[in-house]
Amino acid sequence: MSKNVIVIGGGLAGLVAANFAVKAGAKVTLFEKSRSIGGRAATTEKHGIQFNLGPHALYRSGQAYRILHELGVEVSGGIPKVGGTVGVRNGRKHLLPSGALTLLTTGLFNLSAKLEAAQVLGSLLKIDAEKFNHLSVREWLDKEIRTEDLRLFLQAFFRLGTYANDPERQSAGLALAQFQMALNESVFYVDGGWQVLVDGLRAKAELAGVKIVAEARVEKVERSQSGKVIGVRLADGSRQASDAVIIAASPNEADQLIEGEPTLLNEWAKKAIPVKAACLDIALERLPEPQTTFALGIDRPLYLSVHSAAAKLAPEGQAMIHVAMYLGSEAPADAKAVERELEALLDLVLPGWRWLNFRWH
Ligand SMILES: Cc1cc2nc3c(=O)[nH]c(=O)nc-3n(C[C@H](O)[C@H](O)[C@H](O)COP(=O)(O)OP(=O)(O)OC[C@H]3O[C@@H](n4cnc5c(N)ncnc54)[C@H](O)[C@@H]3O)c2cc1C
Repeated sequence: MSKNVIVIGGGLAGLVAANFAVKAGAKVTLFEKSRSIGGRAATTEKHGIQFNLGPHALYRSGQAYRILHELGVEVSGGIPKVGGTVGVRNGRKHLLPSGALTLLTTGLFNLSAKLEAAQVLGSLLKIDAEKFNHLSVREWLDKEIRTEDLRLFLQAFFRLGTYANDPERQSAGLALAQFQMALNESVFYVDGGWQVLVDGLRAKAELAGVKIVAEARVEKVERSQSGKVIGVRLADGSRQASDAVIIAASPNEADQLIEGEPTLLNEWAKKAIPVKAACLDIALERLPEPQTTFALGIDRPLYLSVHSAAAKLAPEGQAMIHVAMYLGSEAPADAKAVERELEALLDLVLPGWRWLNFRWH
């Protein structure tokens, strides 16, 4: 007899779990507390422009890409261009090195950093990243990289690859693995935004028989006296029995859902460290500098990318741009100051953007 499985959470993880559970022969119901499905992968459309929730890039050699392929979810899009990329240091734009020639000419490195970069960068793509799991990013940089210019540059790429700005705590092994993944296979901006992934997974799941219920908050995962999962209780007071429950929500939310004695989830929730970022998503009538499509802060944790230059996210000629600041695990003390810094990055990289910004009401 097929098992009843309940999935809590209609983000990408919940949708993937529901797809695999139904493939394995289970009878699956997915509950999502919000009105719409998608969680952090949702995309909002305004006047034909697709806004992801902050910059979203799919790693072509990552697990998500592999799983989407395995489930038969079609994804189209584009790889961000290497030309037209700038590094920002001390408030000035420099060429971001992407090969031997740009490495020679960039103003981001002094001569000794150029020599060290030429020796080190290629080998970083081949080293066994796991060997450095025990070191923090800061420890690894201090130990392995001689010049300050190259340390700053690598740190900027580690932020880009991991979305985190926490070098004292972040594992060097993980940062290096993401760096390798980004440079070896590049990333992919998705046509139509990440909602396309959500809709694709949802369609596959429903076709296979998964029941998806939105606006349904699960309040508790109920357990028998022996601790076995017996079902869930919803916010409207109703109950649904099940043989297994998959929670695809944040560690804290998951922990709070469990009734009775604390489980391992409680330990994991206490240890989990959030990663925060401040994002500004901008649509322009046209790009003021069409040749500049990407900027990376070298001495500040900043990011700017014209996602519509690689993927279909805006009508022809218009532009969809994501600007972000990578933070640590804390929200910034002064959010307005962060916003001003993000706008200043736009002023520097895409001067004139303020006049081309859509003013919708
Ligand atoms: C600004 C930003 C940029 C990002 N960029 C990238 C990127 O470039 N590349 C990349 O790979 N990833 C990126 N990510 C991460 C990616 O978006 C997430 O990893 C992914 O979308 C998370 O999916 P999830 O299903 O695990 O969680 P979520 O999307 O958070 O989904 C969890 C869902 O569970 C629901 N839920 C919670 N509790 C309950 C309950 N009690 N009952 C019912 N429903 C519940 C929530 O409403 C939510 O819909 C980015 C994220 C952000 C925020």
